[in-house]
Amino acid sequence: MSKKKTKYVFVTGGVVSSLGKGIASASLGFLLKMRGFRVTILKIDPYLNVDPGTLSPYQHGEVFVTEDGAETDLDLGHYERFLDMDMSQQNNATTGQIYGTVIEKERKGEYLGHTVQVIPHVTDEIKRRIQLVSTINGGMDVVIVEVGGTVGDIEGQPFLEAIRQFRLENGVGNTVNIHLTLVPFIKASGETKTKPTQHSVQKLREIGIQPDVLLCRTEGPLSQEARRKIGLFGNVAPEVVIEGRDAKSIYQVPLLLEKEGLAKQVIRLLHLDGKPVRLDQWERFVEKVLKPRKTVKIGVAGKYVELHDAYKSIMEAFVHAGVQNDARVELVWLGSEDIEQHGAGTYLKKVAGLLIPGGFGERGIEGKIKAVQYARENDLPFFGICLGLQCAVIEFARSVCGLRDANSFEFSNSTTHRVIDYMEEQSDDIQKGGTMRLGSYPCKLKKNTLASRIYGKTKISERHRHRYEVNNAYRAILEKNGMVFSGICPEKDLVEIVELPDKQWFLAVQFHPEFKSRALSVHPIFGSFVKAALDYQEKQS
Ligand code: GLN
Repeated sequence: MSKKKTKYVFVTGGVVSSLGKGIASASLGFLLKMRGFRVTILKIDPYLNVDPGTLSPYQHGEVFVTEDGAETDLDLGHYERFLDMDMSQQNNATTGQIYGTVIEKERKGEYLGHTVQVIPHVTDEIKRRIQLVSTINGGMDVVIVEVGGTVGDIEGQPFLEAIRQFRLENGVGNTVNIHLTLVPFIKASGETKTKPTQHSVQKLREIGIQPDVLLCRTEGPLSQEARRKIGLFGNVAPEVVIEGRDAKSIYQVPLLLEKEGLAKQVIRLLHLDGKPVRLDQWERFVEKVLKPRKTVKIGVAGKYVELHDAYKSIMEAFVHAGVQNDARVELVWLGSEDIEQHGAGTYLKKVAGLLIPGGFGERGIEGKIKAVQYARENDLPFFGICLGLQCAVIEFARSVCGLRDANSFEFSNSTTHRVIDYMEEQSDDIQKGGTMRLGSYPCKLKKNTLASRIYGKTKISERHRHRYEVNNAYRAILEKNGMVFSGICPEKDLVEIVELPDKQWFLAVQFHPEFKSRALSVHPIFGSFVKAALDYQEKQS
């Protein structure tokens, strides 16, 4: 029997950026998966960085880390959370990677004397990367390709050209183009405007891509008249002009798009047979996201507090943890520099838990350390992630073990007590891109600890992204003073989890659990932390 041919859905964006292509792609992927298709998503990022690992969170938001240690676009986080499956290195392609491969091949002489050009060499490499995704996990039925940026961007052109060629080579019925655009509502005149969408479709057609589905982001309902007009100018039938209405929660989007018939249209255009779909579990989850019975406030002391995209996966993990606890988790963003100035109590009196997320660099560190101290001294539930663990260890070393100038080598190279230090293979001179401790590592949990109770097992594996570690030379003194190392990486004998058993809930992890929390299966640490915060809140009232 011949293997079934993989079908491809290309998702492009028009008019403006930030229309939610990532959520739309993840939602469609989910709806197809629920119909029994093997589906995955490729994110294309048309920038020259090889990956977002070297980009500032201010420019690009969170760097999402996969099991296999790739530093990727935050949209891959949405794919994992919606599809409940692991993405990998192969699911994110950048211009940097594409050109890198082409130039490497050129240096090896693989182009046999030809002039190396954008067409066909770069476009061939783009098509190869798209095709490669179809082979993941023994073969995919549908590959969704989300193209970052907006139609008309110079950077995106080679990708759109490659998609044009790809569609031509793969034939009608095997590929679909969904174009996501904005249909603004002008309040002053009370009108819905279709012109930007018309122009954006024209731009796409100039390149030789006729969209098959127009997904229109709108504030309100899209009238039949607007659909007819958009269809007429966009050269598609009104049935494939789909409303993508603003939603209260991103988790509503698959349900709204299902009602609009997006997956049904895609399946029809790809000549697939889809099983009837049951979404009750997702519906119950969304119901709980929208109407929780309780509310709890958690303070987040981070560096990029003005830019919440930098903490995307953490925010989503709290949504999942909220659902498990029937509560809305309200995150209170605390500037660590404000804490440095005004003291931690000013801010932490108003919350039922403190989270210190991952981060880099010295700025705001002393504020974070003050915040941990407040949490420890007042038995406020505390959860540290990566840098958060490092701050907790520094604070404990200083205040409890009497090592006054304890610090991380990242923040001070003159300290006598480097309780947090470089790992063996790291140094100041190392090349920056892709050289941290990245991806999934096993961790063994100590029995009868908070960590082992939370996980309900002793062997776990979690994802990492850091250069520094707890310095093993200080383990004895920290332990002697009451800190418990409840999770250790067996291969390298590295501290992965620390806790203070005399506190209600005080736990910090060197890894990033937020990357593994999914809509329908919350990460157990987040679930447990929110429960501890709710208990704390109840006791306070
Ligand atoms: N800057 C710290 C390190 O590199 C923490 C990194 C993080 O929080 N992701 O070890």
